[in-house]
Amino acid sequence: MVTTATDYSQSIAPGKLFINGEWRDSQDGSTKPTINPANEAETTQIAQATEADVNAAVEAAHNAFEDGPWSKMSPHERGHLLIKVSDLIMQHKDELAYRETIDNGKPITYSSTVDVPFAAEVYAYYGGIANKIEGNTRSAMVPSLNYTRREPMGVVTAITPFNFPLLQSATKIAPALAAGNTVIHKPASMTPLTAIKIAELFAEAGIPEGVFNLITGSGGKIGDIISKHPGIDKISFTGSTSVGIGIVEKSAQTLKHLTMELGGKSANIIFADADMEGAAKNAFFGIFYNKGEICTAGSRLLIERSHYDEVVERLVQLIADTPKGDPLDPKVQFGPLADQSQMETVTKYVQYGQEDGATLHTGGKRFSPEGSNGRGFYYEPTIFTHARNDMRIAKEEIFGPVLTVIPFDLEEDAITIANDSMYGLVVQKTPEQSG
Ligand code: NAP
Repeated sequence: MVTTATDYSQSIAPGKLFINGEWRDSQDGSTKPTINPANEAETTQIAQATEADVNAAVEAAHNAFEDGPWSKMSPHERGHLLIKVSDLIMQHKDELAYRETIDNGKPITYSSTVDVPFAAEVYAYYGGIANKIEGNTRSAMVPSLNYTRREPMGVVTAITPFNFPLLQSATKIAPALAAGNTVIHKPASMTPLTAIKIAELFAEAGIPEGVFNLITGSGGKIGDIISKHPGIDKISFTGSTSVGIGIVEKSAQTLKHLTMELGGKSANIIFADADMEGAAKNAFFGIFYNKGEICTAGSRLLIERSHYDEVVERLVQLIADTPKGDPLDPKVQFGPLADQSQMETVTKYVQYGQEDGATLHTGGKRFSPEGSNGRGFYYEPTIFTHARNDMRIAKEEIFGPVLTVIPFDLEEDAITIANDSMYGLVVQKTPEQSG
């Protein structure tokens, strides 16, 4: 018998665009479904923005920045409004957690204790900072007043991924607004539900029209339009390295300011003198939290050879002990992958691991938890042992629950293997290198 969180499905209407303070259909009326990964059912239809919608959002954000109340409002007032958004997030925390869970598949136990309260905290933090954005004064060679002053850039577009939809968007939207910019948010197609709710809460908080705009729809369709748009001053992007490179290239002609947070293939290292119980728990959490759909996931684990078998067996036991299944069940800690394409990617890499000669120690297949009737993108936590760092499962980001375990003998070898990666998210240093 599965107990589930409160059902907020009745509160979820078809998703529209939010432009200049109005909810609108896309200009060509097109929509696409968002799917619940726990049962593969359509949750609702979501408006798919067109080029005309992007232009309308840019115009609204531009006008709100140049002429509207946002640029005229004092930083103190902007701060108060962001703190109000934070309070509203906490008032709607259960519905937001529900939306995040049915869109992404992350367990409600985490969406309600991590994603939602942390997002609220981000808005409160930047609300507090809005009136403390300071420059400095400098000595001058001639009698004059020399000072710096931080000013907003203008229209900022936040493009966010599917793994922490609410939290990732908060870390982009809140600082941009606190600094006096206006914002267009383009969430991942897989997970638009919390972004839509946040737009509602912005309106309820009294954020003036045009200051925050939401455009849902395919990045493949409107991404290039955003990247090339002369009316957008900055793009803050979190997502895959390949899409990030495309944005850098396409935005070059308009010399946009960019922030790029991209992929990773990070390594945790366990030495023979570690507390093995604690180290194994942390390594387990490092890869299997959020089903491995984390940019900084410890997707490679380097273990000193003398303790290799012991740590692997501890990991297998931790997997067995983890409640898996319906992410709306508050006891569950491991839910389904975010969508079909994620499952196909993971399945492909498990095949690569076997082809390249690693040992599939545990997992490597779909599973059907009680009550799922064979539906849902459930994939077992998977461990490959006896792997080498030149294998595809060690070199390429899988972004799923697949751990590649590599033995080492010397500390220098461990550091070299850990840093032998095209990704730059986590870099290991010896105490000497750290200074
Ligand atoms: P993704 O496929 O790159 O998509 C990210 C966002 O970019 C989505 O909103 C997507 O829209 C949009 N997009 C797609 N094509 C675009 C284009 N041509 N131009 C502009 N935008 C475009 O990444 P994801 O699969 O959602 O997320 C997983 C990736 O994010 C992983 O690589 C992970 O490491 C990375 N990530 C990095 C960090 C970090 O802080 N470094 C944090 C979290 C995640 P659609 O959804 O409509 O395609």
